[in-house]
Amino acid sequence: MFENPRDIDNLLKKHLSYRESCLNLIASENYASEFVRGHQTSDLSNRYGCYETGNPQNREYTGNRYIHEFEMQTQALVCDIFHAKYADLRPISGHLAGMAVALALLEVDDLVIEVSLADWGHGMVGPMCDISQLGKTIRIDYMPFDKNGGVDFDGLVAQVRELKPKLVIFGGSGTLFAEPVKAFRPVADELNILVGYDAAHVTGLIAGGAMPNPLDEGADVMFGSTHKSFPGPQGGFVVSNRADLMDKIGKTISPSLVTSHHIHRLPALAAAILEMKAFGADYAAQIVKNTKALSKALDAHGFKIRGKERGYSDTHIILLETDGGGQSVAKRLEMADILLSDDFSGSSSDVRLGTQEATRRGMKEKEMEEIALLIKRVMLDGESPEAVRGDVGELSRRFNGLEYCF
Ligand SMILES: *Cc1c(COP(=O)(O)O)cnc(C)c1O
Repeated sequence: MFENPRDIDNLLKKHLSYRESCLNLIASENYASEFVRGHQTSDLSNRYGCYETGNPQNREYTGNRYIHEFEMQTQALVCDIFHAKYADLRPISGHLAGMAVALALLEVDDLVIEVSLADWGHGMVGPMCDISQLGKTIRIDYMPFDKNGGVDFDGLVAQVRELKPKLVIFGGSGTLFAEPVKAFRPVADELNILVGYDAAHVTGLIAGGAMPNPLDEGADVMFGSTHKSFPGPQGGFVVSNRADLMDKIGKTISPSLVTSHHIHRLPALAAAILEMKAFGADYAAQIVKNTKALSKALDAHGFKIRGKERGYSDTHIILLETDGGGQSVAKRLEMADILLSDDFSGSSSDVRLGTQEATRRGMKEKEMEEIALLIKRVMLDGESPEAVRGDVGELSRRFNGLEYCF
């Protein structure tokens, strides 16, 4: 139990110095710039900004004159980068954004198709159905994938023709290749299916133009997180070009799921979007180059990489196959201060690496080769993780600045 205020600071300092010496390859994290961090703590951390859906100028609390302006200007920026007519920034996380979309668009007994945990789905509607009331009212099935880690489009079309889902949600936590949203749109029109896109992981790649924008390709609604490949504050969002859907989703978000929507995120999110408008294209393009370089180097050392026949991956994510021990691989690399993730649920034996934070730290293709060698030394050469840790720290400290930011 903390007693002295200094103890809190000391623990934070320890955390910072530990994470500075680690090489972070966790695909769902990122490093926000000082510019973004500096806009995250303000008076807004202690204010309420609740508003009635469809009527944001009608703020429930008094004292919202400038808070309203922050919300509207930030919404406009989000609409601008995602080519959307409408944005809702009230979900305080990507998961909550997805829950709101599913709960708003589904009626009793409707079927949803999403990515399964075994194919690195996030587990959005599946875990919701573990809540017994929802399990009785929502039906769920899973999207088929091919051996390269891409969506099996023909399989999906056959599946929806047979099962007639109300909602199909593309996107997961292990996306290697852009999903066939555009090709699916005519099928969705024919069968009256709503198309959702969970962009939690790839938001930064979409904003930077390294991946097609699902809304441009015909998705009805897109939601996600603002802190994975997109280097903003932690938070969620929903965007769409359909007023009818956004009205339903907005009313589900508030007042049903969220009341205080943590408005201190708004200035930081606005700052991150301005940064992405200035540097996002270069950042996203370098992420993809680094992913390919790291995949190739790991492959050359003898690691098995998913998607090899399709050029490994077109995102920040690399899925490295293990012989069943994803968690033990992650733990062993952690002892060398190399951070990455297994799939947590034990549904996949892959471990997942992400290049987005290393890219922001300024690493390029050459450093990807260094990283592959460090991983090889721990995993294949039988060197003790402690023996490799010093070299990991040396690389991390050489790249402790930040690029693609103001
Ligand atoms: C991380 C993730 C989420 C959840 O986002 P949070 O911001 O962590 O709540 C949702 N969907 C996918 C595909 C994810 O990877």
